[in-house]
Amino acid sequence: MRRSAWERPWCGSLRAENVGETVELAGWIRRRRDLGGLVFADLRDRTGIVQLVFESEMLAEGERLSPEDVVRIEGTVRPRAEGQTNPDLPTGEIEVRVTAMELLTESETPPFQVEDGTNASEELRLTHRYLDLRRPEMTANLLLRHRLVMEARRYFDEMGFVEVETPILTRSTPEGARDFLVPSRIHRGSWYALPQSPQLFKQLLQVAGIGRYVQIARCFRDEDLRADRQPEFTQIDVEASFIEEEDVFGLIEGLFARIFPLAGIEPPERFPRMTYDEAMERYGSDRPDTRFGLELVELGHLAPGCGFRVLEAAAAEGRVKGIVLPGGAALSRKQLDGLNEVVRPHGAAGVLWMKRTADSVASPARKALGEDGVLRFLDAAGAGEGDLLLIVAGAGKVVHAALGALRLHIARERDLIPEGRHDFLWVTDFPLLEWNEEDGRFYAMHHPFTAPRPGDVVRLETDPGAVRARAYDVVMDGSELGGGSIRIHSAEVQRRMFAALGIGEEEARARFGFLLEAFRYGVPPHGGIALGLDRIVMLMAGRDSIRDVIAFPKTTSGSCLLTGAPADVDPDQLAELGVRPAGKEG
Ligand code: ASP
Repeated sequence: MRRSAWERPWCGSLRAENVGETVELAGWIRRRRDLGGLVFADLRDRTGIVQLVFESEMLAEGERLSPEDVVRIEGTVRPRAEGQTNPDLPTGEIEVRVTAMELLTESETPPFQVEDGTNASEELRLTHRYLDLRRPEMTANLLLRHRLVMEARRYFDEMGFVEVETPILTRSTPEGARDFLVPSRIHRGSWYALPQSPQLFKQLLQVAGIGRYVQIARCFRDEDLRADRQPEFTQIDVEASFIEEEDVFGLIEGLFARIFPLAGIEPPERFPRMTYDEAMERYGSDRPDTRFGLELVELGHLAPGCGFRVLEAAAAEGRVKGIVLPGGAALSRKQLDGLNEVVRPHGAAGVLWMKRTADSVASPARKALGEDGVLRFLDAAGAGEGDLLLIVAGAGKVVHAALGALRLHIARERDLIPEGRHDFLWVTDFPLLEWNEEDGRFYAMHHPFTAPRPGDVVRLETDPGAVRARAYDVVMDGSELGGGSIRIHSAEVQRRMFAALGIGEEEARARFGFLLEAFRYGVPPHGGIALGLDRIVMLMAGRDSIRDVIAFPKTTSGSCLLTGAPADVDPDQLAELGVRPAGKEG
């Protein structure tokens, strides 16, 4: 019975209606149970498992099997015996009585059990990634990712978008991170950069008249890694001509309506909008998690002359804000002290707490402020009996970052995030430029091709920090899923933008001359967005680590444990490239 391989059923596909059929199956042995005169074995492929039964003349074949052996079998589908069905398994009503078996390859004992919920270390899992990916929960992530990408491609195709590939060996792109560099052999001493994004190419494609571009694009940024960062990652990269913000919002809301249901998440038809300023003021973050309260309250007006030096000093130069934790007066001294550790990494000196109890107040500032003084803060913050007010004072940036982090910390600790709720949101009106204290200069908050709001252009020279950008981020549950902007298409505005960034004409020509040149020959107004595919799949799959949704990820120190990259290369290769090793650090 040799059928075409493409007609062979998958292990996980067999159901009660297949009873009586003769089937050929191929896969891996998950485990074997000997019952004396009867051997059960689970056969696994990427779709699931099915129970095989070896009896009478086939018994000896079944007894040979060990976990992860690869077999091809022929057999008949039959119902499981009374009381043997497994409702948790899609194939749980049936089993396959094996009539012929071919042991294709034998497996050595694997370094960890290929099962969900493994307690194997991530190091071991990454070293033997092919075994890790064989585990159903990991396979499911790859399949979800595939379905998402297929659906996204279908959607963009229907919307008139064209997928165009852009170069991997290119020049430095303007996302502001460190580049990965590749030496050129032919042009000794010259270097390619790997793209941090296809930004400049997707803009050039608009000049080329493509009009609607999309790409599932690999991007490379040589940054220190965190749990949800990888040196190479994938974006759903989008750019279109003759569009405005609203068009981008509608496009992406339409996309999410198609992809999130693949994970049982139904986003609203339209996402709420919030300006950057409002997000910072209310949530202390430009990617606010709006699924719970604990919003920031303004207390700066109470600080001058209040009698507590720390607050007075902070109010003079910065901000004083707080959050109210309902019922938080029950927190112990130790718990309150612990909160300092949450805010200190953000530059805050600590958290000042105030409690309103049944007949009194408590706070380390009580002596300085007096009971009335403490009450003034509690009243202004709306803290009722049994509530806790947590105050942070200092530079505006620090106060927002610290309270933003505190809010998330408390929500997680105290389980304040409603199960199953998902909030989608557009954050708009980002500042165009960001002042860097260390370098004493402005940097583009998004990138240097982001358009300023038309009404703000006049302030590019007079008050650059106040110019708002036509930039937007799409946020889900406190995670940034993507961001983009309407671009500058006027040579004049672009020149002024470069000037605000301290990029002189010569430097602009050297770095981005090809784009500026292209803009001389009829550039359509255009804009776009890029969505972080890895992060979206991670959230849809309900995972905590981006590595779980990437087939072959790097560790947080940027190594691939499977291949051993980055690795030494042959000295001859280096010589050919004209590169001299600097020697290893450490
Ligand atoms: N290129 C930008 C980024 O990678 C996105 C965009 O502006 O479209 O963040």
